[in-house]
Amino acid sequence: MALRNHPAKYSAFGLVRRGLRKTNWPRVWREPDWKSSYDVIIIGGGVHGLATAYYLAANHGITNVAVLDKAYLGSGGSGRNTAIVRSNYLTPEGVAFYDRSLDLYNTMSVDLNLNVMFSERGHMTLAHTDSALRTMNWRAEVNKLQKIDSSVIGPDEIKKLAPSLDVSTNTRYPILGALYHPPGGTIRHDAVVWGYARGADAQGVDLHQKTEVLDILCEGGDGADGKGAGATVTGVRTRRGDISAPIVVNCTAGWASTIAGMAGVRLPITTHPLQAAVTEPVKAFLPTVVVSGSLHVYVSQTDRGELVFGASVDPVATYNMGGTLEFTEELAGHVLELMPGISKMRLLRQWAGLCDMTPDYSPVMGPTPVEGFYVDVGWGTYGFKAGPVSGEQMAACVANRATPDLIKPFELSRFTEGELVGEKGAAAVGH
Ligand SMILES: Cc1cc2nc3c(=O)[nH]c(=O)nc-3n(C[C@H](O)[C@H](O)[C@H](O)COP(=O)(O)OP(=O)(O)OC[C@H]3O[C@@H](n4cnc5c(N)ncnc54)[C@H](O)[C@@H]3O)c2cc1C
Repeated sequence: MALRNHPAKYSAFGLVRRGLRKTNWPRVWREPDWKSSYDVIIIGGGVHGLATAYYLAANHGITNVAVLDKAYLGSGGSGRNTAIVRSNYLTPEGVAFYDRSLDLYNTMSVDLNLNVMFSERGHMTLAHTDSALRTMNWRAEVNKLQKIDSSVIGPDEIKKLAPSLDVSTNTRYPILGALYHPPGGTIRHDAVVWGYARGADAQGVDLHQKTEVLDILCEGGDGADGKGAGATVTGVRTRRGDISAPIVVNCTAGWASTIAGMAGVRLPITTHPLQAAVTEPVKAFLPTVVVSGSLHVYVSQTDRGELVFGASVDPVATYNMGGTLEFTEELAGHVLELMPGISKMRLLRQWAGLCDMTPDYSPVMGPTPVEGFYVDVGWGTYGFKAGPVSGEQMAACVANRATPDLIKPFELSRFTEGELVGEKGAAAVGH
């Protein structure tokens, strides 16, 4: 990452020399001077905030933009996720949206001039019951209508794609079939964050780390301090001082409802932790991503050989990111149901991140009742894959002051208008 514009340092010798000296590493992005006003402030330096900043500059020429993060870039879900990307969702709105993200991921290494290690290895969602198989068939039909490569396959084909899976019929949770989606896969999450950060910085966007937003400044609203419906945003209060701006975008995922509350906007979001774990590395044996919604587990193998496991969110709403033994035990039990052959592998570590869950398992994007205050939130357990498309679309939304068609179904107003975009069948576990 530190090698941009320094071709001589690409040599292995140069890397070792610099690593040993630990000095003079060129910065990948600037440490910008403090400014008291911007055209756009983005709260949250995850993939969504950084992608929005990048596309504001790249697609709309809006560069007087600040991204504020209370910690370091990628310290939220963007640096904690299991890096699965796919577009085989359940609703036509969801499929079209996530498919655009896959398009952007496909050309990202070239667009950002950084290898983001996109591995298009296929994504398989197992069905252990008739009702699960029915949902897979439903998804396959929705997908095919939108020209997404996605179909239901039987146990023989599943065994060919992932020989380590136990597809025999005498198991506790027999595998009846699977939804197979060849364009899905994994991508290096840190690289995506760094790529957008570097790209935004190079175009003049200021990335302020360790800059916590404490309040959102508004005037003219019905609520306390002139906030809430009818208000206009005027800026933010941070630990380092106030910044004025006519537009503030909330890209804070797990913290989204707290930040929206600072503007007097109530979001239908609860925050739950999501845990994940990784094993020691072994030889490559799992060529696709495997998900089991019924067993609340999914697994993929990294290029280094580790197995990365995830699950569904913890059942209790909390901001606590501690790991639990309960998660590890359930995970191990469920994974061994699917792949008894890996019982000797050792877990290396586990971690958690915060997920902003909405009632319909779809995101919330676009304007709010406070003029100039936008949200790009509700990313639950599935928001990493959406980073590029929501960045692109939110940038257009802010630049043109109009919600683009692709994200119109995801506006906050859908909750009052009763137009939910129900994605639970495709998003509850299979990230
Ligand atoms: C364990 C785990 C596995 C996951 N796996 C997948 C997966 O395989 N595929 C997938 O698509 N998605 C996955 N997700 C979900 C995905 O990680 C998130 O939806 C996505 O990263 C959200 O990105 P973001 O940029 O919106 O938010 P984040 O990356 O969470 O960034 C929000 C930022 O806001 C900052 N912030 C918060 N409050 C303030 C404040 N007051 N002031 C300033 N800054 C603030 C935080 O420091 C943080 O950096 C997973 C999540 C977890 C936790």
